[in-house]
Amino acid sequence: MRISPSLAIVGSGQFGLSSRFDCHLYAVQAPEGVVLFDAGSGLKHDVVLAHLRNEFADLSRGAIVVTHAHPDHVCGLAALAGALGWPVYASAQAKQIIESGDEAAAGLVVTRAMGGYPPDLRLAPCSIEGIYEDGVPLHLCGLSLTPIAVRGHSPDSFVFLCQLDGLRTLFSADVVFYGGVLGLINVDGSDLAGYRADLPKLAPLSVEALLPAHGLFTLRFGQRHIDTALTQLAKGFVPRMVGQGDLIL
Ligand SMILES: [Zn+2]
Repeated sequence: MRISPSLAIVGSGQFGLSSRFDCHLYAVQAPEGVVLFDAGSGLKHDVVLAHLRNEFADLSRGAIVVTHAHPDHVCGLAALAGALGWPVYASAQAKQIIESGDEAAAGLVVTRAMGGYPPDLRLAPCSIEGIYEDGVPLHLCGLSLTPIAVRGHSPDSFVFLCQLDGLRTLFSADVVFYGGVLGLINVDGSDLAGYRADLPKLAPLSVEALLPAHGLFTLRFGQRHIDTALTQLAKGFVPRMVGQGDLIL
């Protein structure tokens, strides 16, 4: 599904595009290839591949960027990277989890036991070719991305800032969602202290397009959603967070 001239969404549980256990999978037509953000659960990786083939004429060159090592983002990595032959980029922390297939560190053991994922879902190890670091520009297929580390949803969570189709764009992963909802979850590694420490890094970005990995996305006034989250975090109460009431599941 095309979002803007160079941006497509090629997998999503909530939008009914692939497995219901998939996060949103965004893909960008960069000058020298296709850049895919996250890989989903892998439960319907063939459907994700079909969407990629429909949206992009040439898949001979590309790269996969992992935002963090949670099951709905990385369990499909080995299958997708294998089928596409693209290098995978991750943080040093996520690399360790993904290359060792550490299901406990990925949060899969506990969330599978909670019934959040099918009992047979596994994290297949996958090689990570490139490491990105906080604030160090990452150039992939001619696309320039700035990775920003934001703890709170998980210790290894990153968001990515770039210019896309004339819009200042933030791939906000599970860090901050539409409406200023935070990705605080009931799993080890998720905590408000991380958000309090790191979310203010997103205050001066003047984001137009906000592309979270769940729920709605927007191409305009994205910064308002980030600022809403920051305003709530500055108060002495627990902010709106994912999974509460009708907020994003
Ligand atoms: Zn996550």
